[in-house]
Amino acid sequence: MTYRLRLPGPTAVPPRVLKAIAEPVVNHRGPEFRAMYARCEELMRPILGTTGHPFFLACSGTGAMEASLVNILAPGESVLCVIHGHFGERFAAIAKTFGAQVDVLEFPWGTTVDASAIEKRVAEKNYRAVVVTHNESSTGVFANLSPIGAIFRDRPTLLVADSVSGLGGLEMKQDEWRVDIVASASQKCLMCPPGIGVVSVSQKAWKIVEREDRLPRYYWDFRKTLASAEKSETAFTAPVSLMSGLREALEMIHEESLPKVLARHLRLSAALRAGCAAIGLAGYGEAGALSPTVVALQVPEKLNGGDIVRRLYEKHRTVIAGSRNKLAGRVIRIGTMGYVSEEDILTDLRHLEDVLPDLGFAVTTGAGVAAAAASFRQ
Ligand code: PMP
Repeated sequence: MTYRLRLPGPTAVPPRVLKAIAEPVVNHRGPEFRAMYARCEELMRPILGTTGHPFFLACSGTGAMEASLVNILAPGESVLCVIHGHFGERFAAIAKTFGAQVDVLEFPWGTTVDASAIEKRVAEKNYRAVVVTHNESSTGVFANLSPIGAIFRDRPTLLVADSVSGLGGLEMKQDEWRVDIVASASQKCLMCPPGIGVVSVSQKAWKIVEREDRLPRYYWDFRKTLASAEKSETAFTAPVSLMSGLREALEMIHEESLPKVLARHLRLSAALRAGCAAIGLAGYGEAGALSPTVVALQVPEKLNGGDIVRRLYEKHRTVIAGSRNKLAGRVIRIGTMGYVSEEDILTDLRHLEDVLPDLGFAVTTGAGVAAAAASFRQ
């Protein structure tokens, strides 16, 4: 039976990428690896919208987030954590763990982030950094980083963005928008297995990273990371096979072209939302800020999200996500990121149309598929 990985991460890995991962392991300080590394850098830059050195760390997204903070903070420095979902809470928890003075600016879950509210807070207090979740995977809503970045143009405060589930599927213009640190990971829009954390640091942030008085850091020390990146190497043994996969995935994005990849994410997420609405699964989240990479759906009154997730898996081996936070049972989530096609969206809807009646929720068979197909034709 097939296994359909339709989570908002980790996501399905294309056969081309799997094949690249299966190549023989090479010396992580040898010419084959350096060529692979250099190509990953070259292909990552336009996805990030930077001319700097993207870093590739052996970790998941949370490691990339932690690495970002330990390189810019000193104990007791103030951080403003902008929270509009589960992953904003995680970033705040990391900052607290390392002894930062954490203030929070919260927006209701499912809504986006208001730049003017951030501006007000940074005018009142001097923060070392403001942390924002670019794409909130828990709610399927994104934050517009462009007006947020503009706030920091003439301020010493750094803007740090968690784009773990955004980068590669949601536009990022790091240099233009003045995002000082972008943290991401391989297993979402970048079409790879979990295991590579991606971090990109601005020139402005670099001046802080270089200071001796930052938090203790060894494995995460970006000064070591940069010195190695300049030689097209990683500071410590690289996840060589995953880097081979990442190169292939980035080649695929390059071949399709980034604008087309971003447009595909928009098209597929809109069609899935349209199809779900047609079978009685209303979208969750603020219109106008709906994520192109994660579709969050409200669970109809008499149903439980966990039952939908379980039934899809048992009957079709279609793996979607529920919620493991305050939205538990009430919101289910489907990834529209990475290696996803129109056929995948139509199959998701066919499977939903099949299992919802099993759970006692009547749907008109074909209504969701038809609405998605109509959305594709627009
Ligand atoms: N931030 C966001 C927005 C995420 O979606 C995730 C993963 N679901 C993380 C952070 C954490 O990443 P990881 O699970 O790779 O540590």
